[in-house]
Amino acid sequence: MVRGPSASILTIGNELLIGRVVDTNSSWLASRLTLLGVKVRLILTVGDTVDDIVWGIKSALRVSDIVITTGGLGPTDDDITMEAIAAALHRPLTLDPEARRLVEEFYSKHGQGLSPERIKMAYLPAGARPIPNPVGAAPGAHLRVGSTEVFVLPGVPREMQAMFESYVVEAIRYMLPGLCVVEEGITVTGVPEADIAPLLRKAARMCPDCYVKSHPKGHEGAAPRIEVKVLSSAEDCEQARSKARRVLDELERLLGHG
Ligand code: ATP
Repeated sequence: MVRGPSASILTIGNELLIGRVVDTNSSWLASRLTLLGVKVRLILTVGDTVDDIVWGIKSALRVSDIVITTGGLGPTDDDITMEAIAAALHRPLTLDPEARRLVEEFYSKHGQGLSPERIKMAYLPAGARPIPNPVGAAPGAHLRVGSTEVFVLPGVPREMQAMFESYVVEAIRYMLPGLCVVEEGITVTGVPEADIAPLLRKAARMCPDCYVKSHPKGHEGAAPRIEVKVLSSAEDCEQARSKARRVLDELERLLGHG
């Protein structure tokens, strides 16, 4: 439905693969990117091994204009994302003076100095720009690979989100279609999802380029409650909202509520 650039999200961490941490970074990024008019093509999760990260980044680069990775930027030995990305791109990993300054500034604010482990966070693939981390210690990195913009962000959701909002949105603005993307929704109670599905298909014809989705929330048998969401984009927000409303109004009419 959105005619913007494409993106891939690569989340990195063994904790994600063993089920100890739920990958909320992917869903958060996917919804932010979608609402900016970016089409998310691929979401991948890999563990903390160079080979898997190299494979992941190469797969992402093949299909997207924007690649965002999260995780593996910390000071410990298992934080190897920068090293793996450097390997994937055949670039050396070098001490970036600006990244070093950012790391030093973070620790000195907390009354602490640098150590080899902390300086490790300032090594970036050659040609990368450091992304300041307004919340934590590890800077991210921004690289251009051919025509693809690559953003390497930390795994901690609060840090990742702050860096996305303060840096990534601005950096990809030139690629965005300038669309206003809105989401409108209604909640339908007392009708099972299976009965809504054909009505939803009919209603969706009112806006062929909208994204229409139903989310069952209540108990399917005893007390069905379905949230219907319509994602719509247009050159101005009023137009986008009215396209989405058209679908929802038609659904209400078909349900006999309109
Ligand atoms: P740190 O500086 O803390 O080492 P990092 O960039 O190295 O940050 P990770 O070590 O991979 O990130 O993850 C740090 C913490 O962030 C994890 O323990 C986990 O709680 C959380 N986290 C990592 N990845 C995700 C994810 N995809 N979704 C949600 N939370 C995540």
